[in-house]
Amino acid sequence: MKISDHVHALKLPFQSTGDENRPVERFVHLYFICGRRICMVDSGVAPALNDILAYLSQIGRSVAEIDLLVQTHSHPDHIGCSRALKDASGCRLAAHRDAKPWIEDIDLQYQKRPTGTFYALVSRSAAVDTVLSDGDILPLGEGRSLTVLHTPGHSRDSISFFYRPDGVLFTGDTIPEAGGRPVYEDVSAVIRSLRKLEGLKGVKVLCSAWHLPLTGDRAPALLAEALGYIQHIHQVVTRTRSDFPSLDTPALCRRVLAHLDQPPLPNVIKSIESHLNFSRLDDLLKR
Ligand SMILES: [Zn+2]
Repeated sequence: MKISDHVHALKLPFQSTGDENRPVERFVHLYFICGRRICMVDSGVAPALNDILAYLSQIGRSVAEIDLLVQTHSHPDHIGCSRALKDASGCRLAAHRDAKPWIEDIDLQYQKRPTGTFYALVSRSAAVDTVLSDGDILPLGEGRSLTVLHTPGHSRDSISFFYRPDGVLFTGDTIPEAGGRPVYEDVSAVIRSLRKLEGLKGVKVLCSAWHLPLTGDRAPALLAEALGYIQHIHQVVTRTRSDFPSLDTPALCRRVLAHLDQPPLPNVIKSIESHLNFSRLDDLLKR
């Protein structure tokens, strides 16, 4: 789907596991910034190459025209096809410096953050050619460029990219989905990152991995809804801790998640734990 003068979005469905290892239908969005050459934002899951080739053929382009792949972070549904894409196109791969170890050694990522379908989503490691930091400007040719914004919280290596010529902001998994599974390592960092994105001028289209591209008022609304959801979770955590002071941390997290109607998966429990570490979160949320 073409979403601006130069940007196309591709929705990629895949299967993951949920509560009690039941299969769950999920999806991730990949993006193509098309000029004379093509820059891709995230590569999707391991079997994505055929979908990518088919989409490129549909818009009259070829995989050999991709010369840059930028990663929003190192999680398997974003890097799964990176090695295959590099092999097929010869493109350079760019990622945040904290993403490099997990992209270049997927077994290391599995050891530190195991998930049920990990090796179905990502099958091979890939070399990172360009290490990115906040504020970097990536030239895309023809005077166009992509700005790097470090937006940690979902993961410490999460970055967003702003493509100023079309006003398109790519956020990966940075913005939590209101009412969805909270998945973040550091809730205070999520809040700071959302504030940073709110302050960005010139955004016309917001492209996250979890939503269809959003335009107009729907982009700031998504950020406001995410902050509201975090505030709601924090209120539930605070109230539960006050009502059940004798509960240990795992039991407290499970009770909070039951209240939120969310599964007690390890990565979701970790998100709730991160609320317990920040007693001054209310101040951050009020700002
Ligand atoms: Zn992620």
